[in-house]
Amino acid sequence: ASPRPSVLVTGPVLEAVVERQLGPRFAVVALADLARTDPRAVRAIATRGAARVDAALMDRLPALEVIANFGVGYDTVDAAAAAARGVVVTHTPDVLDDEVADLTLGLLLATVRRLPEADRFVRAGRWRAGAFPLTATLRGRTVGMVGMGRIGRAIARRLDAFGVGLVYHSRRKVADLGYDHVPDLLAMARAVDTLVVIVPGGPATRHMVNAEVLAALGPDGVLVNVARGSVVDEPALLAALQAGTILAAGLDVFEDEPRVPEAFFSLDNVVLLPHVGSATTRTRTAMGQLVVDNLFSWFDGKGPLTPVPETPWPRR
Ligand code: NDP
Repeated sequence: ASPRPSVLVTGPVLEAVVERQLGPRFAVVALADLARTDPRAVRAIATRGAARVDAALMDRLPALEVIANFGVGYDTVDAAAAAARGVVVTHTPDVLDDEVADLTLGLLLATVRRLPEADRFVRAGRWRAGAFPLTATLRGRTVGMVGMGRIGRAIARRLDAFGVGLVYHSRRKVADLGYDHVPDLLAMARAVDTLVVIVPGGPATRHMVNAEVLAALGPDGVLVNVARGSVVDEPALLAALQAGTILAAGLDVFEDEPRVPEAFFSLDNVVLLPHVGSATTRTRTAMGQLVVDNLFSWFDGKGPLTPVPETPWPRR
């Protein structure tokens, strides 16, 4: 009988659902133990967020066949390098769309209506001394979505119910969608007062939202970023919040997680979340199950279930 395939797990821990199911079928190797095992035995990688799966790591693993990423965003996996080596990359699309969209609406409302600050106000006993100040509103706003993919559309459906205007920017216009497509991000920022960012990370979107875009958004402007920290020029955003170039920001993601620039902490016009877009028990379990299902399907000879676009599948 052939030995159990080895799977390299890069993160400190994937979800419990993954670990329970990988153990019986694979020899599980932690990244820290790679030096003490035979890298030629590793046929799969299960990875998550923080750890980089780059060409150098792939070159150490000549038997590598598949990289299963926990999460829909796979900017920490060099998918082009994987494709060049015939290595399949999978991710976890669809199963988290509604969860992330819910969080986005919560963050947008929290930012515009200053909900975390209002909570702090009550806890500090300040209500007895006077009412909480009036805030900005979602009423009358027009949201410019930066990205209109799976999650973007789930956010748009919710924004429809809130009765706000909506346009979007992406490289290609989405067919059969009832919102105006704006090919130029700067032009969109000028035309709206609220940006919701939900594009992938990586070099193509790096610092798309820069000082110029923030200035175009204007003094009533609200920025919500639930995409990746790399998409926003963080020092430019900090300066814009300090100077009142824009009104407020809601951030679930940062350029160097988990390190959040401390200068944000003293600002009342920013709501800070620790990358919790999909972070519920239900949805993280579904994501973990999809990681496992992709690996099982691959080693059952049935191919990947949810390969990334860079992975040519079915093989040409
Ligand atoms: P999709 O691939 O379905 O959608 C991506 C959207 O971004 C598309 O509209 C795409 O359109 C657009 N886009 C991609 N590249 C560019 C570019 N260079 N310029 C302008 N627009 C671009 O992805 P999902 O909706 O499933 O997920 C989006 C991202 O959200 C993930 O990659 C991940 O980084 C992030 N995310 C964050 C979470 C959190 O916890 N905060 C949770 C889950 C995801 P087009 O290709 O036409 O340009």
